[in-house]
Amino acid sequence: MNREEQLRRLSDPSALWDILVIGGGATGLATALDAATRGYRTALVEQADFCEGTSSKSTKLIHGGVRYLRNGEIGLVRESLRERGRLLRNAPGLVEPMPFVVPAYRFYERFFYGTGLALYDRLAGDLGIGRTEHPGRSAVLERLPNLRRRGLRGGTLYWDGQFDDAALALAMARTAASQGAALLNHARVVGLVKEGGRVKGAEVRTRFDGREFPVRAKVVVNATGVFTDEIRNFDDGQAAPVVRVSQGIHLVLERRFLGGDTAAMIPKTEDGRVLFLIPWKNRLLLGTTDTDGVETALNPRPLAEEIDYLVRHAALYLEEAPSHGDIRAVFAGLRPLASPPKTGAGSRSTASLSRSHCLFTSDSGLVTMTGGKWTTCRQMGQDAVDRAAEVGGLEVRPSGTADLSLLVPPVSVPVDPLDPELPFYGGSDIDRAVREDMALTLDDVMSRRTRASFLDEAAAVRCAPAVAARMAELLGKDSDWIRDELESFSASLVVGGRTPDAPRATSD
Ligand SMILES: Cc1cc2nc3c(=O)[nH]c(=O)nc-3n(C[C@H](O)[C@H](O)[C@H](O)COP(=O)(O)OP(=O)(O)OC[C@H]3O[C@@H](n4cnc5c(N)ncnc54)[C@H](O)[C@@H]3O)c2cc1C
Repeated sequence: MNREEQLRRLSDPSALWDILVIGGGATGLATALDAATRGYRTALVEQADFCEGTSSKSTKLIHGGVRYLRNGEIGLVRESLRERGRLLRNAPGLVEPMPFVVPAYRFYERFFYGTGLALYDRLAGDLGIGRTEHPGRSAVLERLPNLRRRGLRGGTLYWDGQFDDAALALAMARTAASQGAALLNHARVVGLVKEGGRVKGAEVRTRFDGREFPVRAKVVVNATGVFTDEIRNFDDGQAAPVVRVSQGIHLVLERRFLGGDTAAMIPKTEDGRVLFLIPWKNRLLLGTTDTDGVETALNPRPLAEEIDYLVRHAALYLEEAPSHGDIRAVFAGLRPLASPPKTGAGSRSTASLSRSHCLFTSDSGLVTMTGGKWTTCRQMGQDAVDRAAEVGGLEVRPSGTADLSLLVPPVSVPVDPLDPELPFYGGSDIDRAVREDMALTLDDVMSRRTRASFLDEAAAVRCAPAVAARMAELLGKDSDWIRDELESFSASLVVGGRTPDAPRATSD
């Protein structure tokens, strides 16, 4: 994907697209991919980087959602397990099976979780990954050597999928581009184009040079996650809100705080939340939280109390507990929770396609897809394109994504490591990021083309000057650009390479 070429195609005043997608997270990319593989002329614009919003800050699970079983949401779990199976098949190397242990500290827990997870296996059917087992105490400790021993009776072992969310997003963007879609990052929709009261495109402004141009399309899909209502307001100032926001954060720790290659799932903490401890790229993810009432932002800050909550809960389940000083990185994301209005003010609230995602069509034809999760994004894309084709009067063509293999990136050449603590490489990874994957800022490379800042902020700070210098060469930028990029990258970090006793987090 060459950015100049994408910009040229999108800003061509004579172009009329079949479908324009606003938003380059999981939902928007899945929609663009589905539309392009059906042969529709497809365009997508993303205000920041691909996947810079919620989609890069997930727990990194492609899962059926064991917790939904507890709520009796069988349909949702079945749909998610089906999509999990498809992703494992269509994106091998990007989505991998991972064993999880639910530790049992009370005598009935093994039976209780064992029964639920046997149902989970059955719902997965032919797309199952591995059978649920019931390891005893010592087998659990072999897999999770740092798990709290006192009172441990054994556990239940089940399988789910794990992935690198930003890498999967890039693979979807690359595949959509290979099918003819035009995709542009760092290009924001600042208004909608209307003709005869119908939405027929969007006004787009590029982020760094402020170029503005209209992109005309037969139908527009709003896939902007927690910003959904902002776009709906461009269409109709009276549109009722359809999204609620809830923040979740993860701490990144050294892997030894769990040990082994198995993840742990605590289905019910003292306050009823689910807690995951998951090995990821030689680190350990600990999450997540569920905090209402936070402000909507592209890159939200973790709250001090969220960090404290996770550190406190880790101590309840681990022999050697991490302290604040052990935190290598923190990332926060906002869940776009679909919350359909009871009476749609100027907006037709149509079928809630499952408990997880919702599709709306406004009176002027703006199609909005929201809610859902990473795991079900392919289905969301398919549903959004079915609706868009109807609204835009496009020729009916079936979706082809259920069996579509995604284009995975070539394996990195392991020379010139960015830092001994990080699995990324100077020559190959940075050059490919800029030349082929449209990275434009230092943060694009440090956070999403590599996951350096997600894995270890101190290491990311150490290698940032070399990365910025190489990017400046490739992009033709000067020393002022390098200085500005380093400043804004460093301001985006939470523990910031200072490895303090307590992370620098906001509590407002
Ligand atoms: C803490 C947390 C953990 C999660 N873990 C999991 C998990 O393990 N597995 C799972 O399946 N799901 C998980 N989810 C859910 C999943 O991450 C989200 O459902 C999904 O990423 C939402 O994708 P999206 O594309 O709708 O939103 P986003 O990723 O936020 O994408 C929307 C995009 O629209 C862009 N945009 C907004 N306004 C404009 C504009 N005016 N012009 C152009 N672009 C615009 C934004 O910049 C953004 O990139 C998790 C969510 C959270 C918060």
